[in-house]
Amino acid sequence: MTATILDGFALAEKVRAEVRVGVAAFREEHGSVPGLDVVLVGEDPASQVYTRNKEKASNEVGMRGRLHKLPASTTEAELLGLLASLNADDAVDGILVQLPLPAHIDDEKVLDAVSPAKDVDGFHPINVGLLASGRPGLVPCTPTGCMRLLALANVDLAGARAVVVGRSNIVGKPVAQLLLAQHATVTIAHSRTRDLPSVCREADVLVAAVGKPQMVRGDWVKEGAVVVDVGINRVPTPDGKGRLVGDVCFDEAKERARAITPVPRGVGPMTIACLLANALRAAERRRG
Ligand code: NAP
Repeated sequence: MTATILDGFALAEKVRAEVRVGVAAFREEHGSVPGLDVVLVGEDPASQVYTRNKEKASNEVGMRGRLHKLPASTTEAELLGLLASLNADDAVDGILVQLPLPAHIDDEKVLDAVSPAKDVDGFHPINVGLLASGRPGLVPCTPTGCMRLLALANVDLAGARAVVVGRSNIVGKPVAQLLLAQHATVTIAHSRTRDLPSVCREADVLVAAVGKPQMVRGDWVKEGAVVVDVGINRVPTPDGKGRLVGDVCFDEAKERARAITPVPRGVGPMTIACLLANALRAAERRRG
């Protein structure tokens, strides 16, 4: 079997187009556009690229995107002060604090300080609790992107065996909750899981969110499974430029899977698209 490739790049374009239409309707109704504020502390090069892309993407769909760049020397109290003012500002619908934060700032304290109604990353404990109890809230972006990719593959999740490899708060746990909400029978695997290849081989739906290049081999994949590869890992190449690979050995897995996401152009582009959808949703919930 050679798998269908689930094109996250094309699907992300579709989601952005939906958001653009939603923003235009919002402007029509409210006379203003949703505002997304992204906060970056420090000079981490990858974070600078991510935050610039988020600001640009929000402006491209017609929102008001704004990037707050703070020096690495910013104190926790100063950052909390900025968040308090964004929480109080009615023109701000979505707030995202780019991680990682400098070591002298407590991540948890900062994420807890974002108003749950504006928490477009879905990391606030209130939103985590709403997701876990099957109630509406803001859901983390990468897991939402995974679910849209599974929908693209027309997977019937009810009763399906789903295995999620990885139990992080930002990907593994929330994607497992979303699969459970769709009535899949979900196993969450992690670094202490015994005989991981056998666990993976049971999966009708296999989601890998580990951060280990090409760890999931072809013979871990059940014939006809659908594979979602969240991993983004840069590996060295002879020309010194390096290339991106996922947590799944794509060339092997595509010979057994029914459908699979590539890296790049799989889950990655869906994350920003789903962030924009979350910002619109937050605006509609707050002002609707
Ligand atoms: P993370 O916080 O480092 O979590 C990794 C998870 O993998 C942990 O639960 C860990 O288990 C588990 N793990 C590590 N080694 C393992 C092994 N040998 N066998 C089984 N499980 C193992 O990572 P993350 O933030 O979830 O990110 C995972 C990957 O997704 C990374 O490559 C990251 O770059 C990528 N990512 C992509 C996007 C996107 O937009 N596409 C967004 C976020 C993340 P323990 O809990 O036992 O340590």
